[in-house]
Order: sequence, then structure tokens, then C-alpha cells
Amino acid sequence: MKGKLYIVATPIGNLEDITLRAINTLKNVDIIIAEDTRHSLKLLNHLEISKPLISYHRHNEEEKTESILNKIEEGNNIALISDAGTPVISDPGEIIVKRALERNIEVVPIPGACAIITALMGAGVNTRKFTFYGFLSINKKIREKELEEIKNNKNTIILYEAPHKLINTLNDLENYIGKRKVVLARELTKIHEEFIRGSIGEVKDKINSPKGEYVIIIDENTEINEQEENKLNSLSLDEHYNYYEKLGLNKKEIIKKIAKDRNVNRNEIYQQFLNK
Ligand code: SAM
Repeated sequence: MKGKLYIVATPIGNLEDITLRAINTLKNVDIIIAEDTRHSLKLLNHLEISKPLISYHRHNEEEKTESILNKIEEGNNIALISDAGTPVISDPGEIIVKRALERNIEVVPIPGACAIITALMGAGVNTRKFTFYGFLSINKKIREKELEEIKNNKNTIILYEAPHKLINTLNDLENYIGKRKVVLARELTKIHEEFIRGSIGEVKDKINSPKGEYVIIIDENTEINEQEENKLNSLSLDEHYNYYEKLGLNKKEIIKKIAKDRNVNRNEIYQQFLNK
């Protein structure tokens, strides 16, 4: 019988941030595949888990994927872990998950710590709609395109960045997003965890030489949101309705939205659209 591929989240700093299910999965699989086997050994030793380890990282992902999947087809259960946090998210895993599914191998995600979500939990920003960009590209053209996209994206934006590139990335962002509020979530779940808030200029002043790990969060662009709201409110009620209908919302959702946009009672709008 085929084995399964388990995608297991591990801590992003504090070793207590691992679920019982993750520990049990790591105890029960036949093989663990890890980005840096020496790094993961520290965690596995701490959990008193001893398993055959296979190294699986950005540079050998393509080459190793098929042989790992062969082992699963031979009956082995295999867990993928990354150096920290949730595999697949700015870490190896996307390729093996896709290929496993192509080969009808069951993929079981075992959730846990993830830097994006942990940062959002303490940032105090709009969490209803957010866009995650991972690391910005180092290719100049692609990076400019990404920055332009960020500028026009009104949602909360989340980025990962290495400490030695942080200032450079903040400078680039400053040119595109101006005074939008940002939060740097630093060393999450660790002793020196902190949230640094302000405009980009202000947060740059608060960090001298960046050390540790950072998530960059850019809060929603309220200016664009306000502009859009004003635009919607200048439409007739029917046009306002059609706008949301085209976005795929149902009648109840549309009425709720219109009432909120126009700051009027929902019943009042409902009465207008009794026959819709
Ligand atoms: N897959 C991991 C996750 O989502 O949890 C992230 C891996 S990615 C290679 C590493 C980046 O995640 C770091 O450069 C940093 O931006 C962010 N990160 C990871 N751990 C962090 C922590 N404890 N505090 C702040 N940022 C962290």
C-alpha cells in the first residue's frame, strides 16, 4: 500500500510551538525530509525523535522529488519539514506537493507556526484582506513590477525579508508606498520579539543595524479605500447594486455592502430592491 506525504509545520523560534499532532506524525513516519538536516536534528533531538533524514532544499528539490515519491509509492510514510515554520510557504514543498497529487499520493498538511500568521496576530492591522508576496524578487525588472503592484494594492501586504537586505527593501518600498503605516514583526516567538510601528521613515529610524528575523507588514491603503467608497456612493442605487452583482455577491450580501458603503439602515436598502 502507498504511504502518505505529511507536510509538517515546526516552530519559528519557540520550541514549544509545535502541535501534538506534528510530534506524533514525526514519531510515526518512516522518513523525514528536511531542508538542512543538521539544523532539523536539533529539533528532532529535543523531541527525542530519531528517523532517517533526507536533505531536500531549493537546490536539489527538482532532482530529489521523484525518488522521494517513489519511496512513498513503495509504502513509506514521509514527513516534510523546513528549517522553521510552515513548509511550502517561501520554503521547499510546492513542487513535491504538486507532483505527489499528480501521482495520486495523499498529501496531509499538519498545521502549526507560520511567520505570516504570527505577525498578523500581533500587528494590529486590517486582517480581513491581505496579500502575501514572500521575498521580493532580486531581479530588478520583476522587483519593480512587484513594487508597482504593491503600490496599487489596497489590501494589507505581507513580505518576508532577510536582515541584511531589510534596509534596502524598506528604501525601495518607501519610494512606492510613501507614508502608509507599516509594522515590522521581529524575532517572533523568541526572547527579543518586538513589533516596530510607524511610517517607513519612522521604523527605519528605530532600527540601526537590523538583526534577527523580520516580517514586513504594510497596512491597508485607506486612501484608495476611501476613494473607492466615494466612487461607489456617487453611483445610482441600481448601478451600485450591479457593481457588487458583477463581483459575484448574492442579494443579501449586496444589500449589506450597499448599506455599509452609504452608512444607511440595511432595511432601507432592502425595501428598494424587494423585486430584484
Ligand atoms: N516557511 C516559513 C513560515 O512561513 O513560517 C518561512 C520561511 S522563510 C525562508 C524565512 C523568513 O520568514 C524569514 O526571512 C523571515 O522573514 C520570516 N520569519 C521566519 N521566522 C521568523 C520569526 N521568528 N520572526 C520573524 N520573521 C520570521
